[in-house]
Amino acid sequence: MAKLTVKDLDVKGKKVLMRVDFNVPIKDGVIGNDNRIVAALPTIKYVLEQGGKLVLFSHLGRIKSEDDKVGLTLEPVAARLSDLLGQPVEFVDKTRGTELEEAIDALQDGQVLMVQNTRYEDFVDGVETKYESKNDPELGKYWASLGDGIFVNDAFGVAHRAAASNVGIAENVAQTAAGFLMEKEIKFLGEAVENPVRPFVAIIGGAKVSDKIEIVKSLLDKADKVIIGGGMAYTFDVANGKSIGNSLFEEDKVELAKELIASAGDKLVLPVDAVAASAFSNDADTYIAEDGIKDGYMGLDIGPKSIELFESVIKDAKTIVWNGPMGVFEMPNFAKGTLAIGEALVKATEENGATTIVGGGDSTAAVQQLGVADKLSHISTGGGASLEYLEGKVLPGIAAISDK
Ligand code: AMP
Repeated sequence: MAKLTVKDLDVKGKKVLMRVDFNVPIKDGVIGNDNRIVAALPTIKYVLEQGGKLVLFSHLGRIKSEDDKVGLTLEPVAARLSDLLGQPVEFVDKTRGTELEEAIDALQDGQVLMVQNTRYEDFVDGVETKYESKNDPELGKYWASLGDGIFVNDAFGVAHRAAASNVGIAENVAQTAAGFLMEKEIKFLGEAVENPVRPFVAIIGGAKVSDKIEIVKSLLDKADKVIIGGGMAYTFDVANGKSIGNSLFEEDKVELAKELIASAGDKLVLPVDAVAASAFSNDADTYIAEDGIKDGYMGLDIGPKSIELFESVIKDAKTIVWNGPMGVFEMPNFAKGTLAIGEALVKATEENGATTIVGGGDSTAAVQQLGVADKLSHISTGGGASLEYLEGKVLPGIAAISDK
């Protein structure tokens, strides 16, 4: 790959700055799920084993007031990291100043320190400053000055936003390298957009057309087939003159859906049936709707014929990208379509040697629910970032990583 990675760096005895994504769910100081901390361990361990003096930066939640800071301290995260690493992690409850500078200068080779939540800089002295989130040039410069000119970015989840702690630091150091997580994202998502092994099939689901229309458009240029599922399919159904009952639908996107249907031809694969329900409830009365949905009912999942159709397209693919559920999978009675896609991806990986990439919180939750996440090629750690990457947009956090 064309970007510098952490393995290209000489970190021994150096103060190494690293941006990680430790934006974990946290309530009353208790971490709900530490997946993101675990995921960053390989890069952290590597730098420590090579004798680097490691300084970690992460954001946590959103800070719009002094009160927000109380529940969004990174202290419990530092404690969890220390448990996972089996070594002390010094936590500094500051984002700048003498205390932080002295603590960093006192680090020995192989020691690690964590800076307080970078978004504390978004609210300073009673004012919403957004120094971190708006990439204030002075802040990036200051943070960069705390290290020895090398910066590792392993936070893919925020790569689609230019902040002081990713782009700002990168602009003020000699070398910025991708961590192992970031490297994997660039490898899988980057190759899928730039150079996919074909047939390349994209599966896009979820609630709203307006959220994902841009990615559908751009994937129609790149992929061999684009499968549409979930609530967004009904706007396409209306464009095709089908009745949809009370299903989710966006009137102002019907014209656009018509245009896409006309220009994409058989590249666009739409559901051919639906699980129609009398209410938005797991206990609703349901039937399989094949020729439009009758009044008083709403489509909450793809039906068995759609599953079969989608499976047949997925079966032959060599590269598959999936983002967004096929139905309201949070309710067990409408989860079948989404789970079937997860299973079809596993099959394609195992039996057809396909590269399978899942992005977005809901599709990731579905493959985890199936217990098959480790049977797929890549589960992206970034929802918004992975969508923008697949759309072909330049992600500022990745653009700021040095070329080899
Ligand atoms: P998104 O954030 O756009 O990926 O949308 C995810 C949400 O879409 C999930 O919470 C699903 O419950 C919801 N969803 C999927 N299919 C439907 C549908 N047919 N009707 C209503 N909501 C849906």
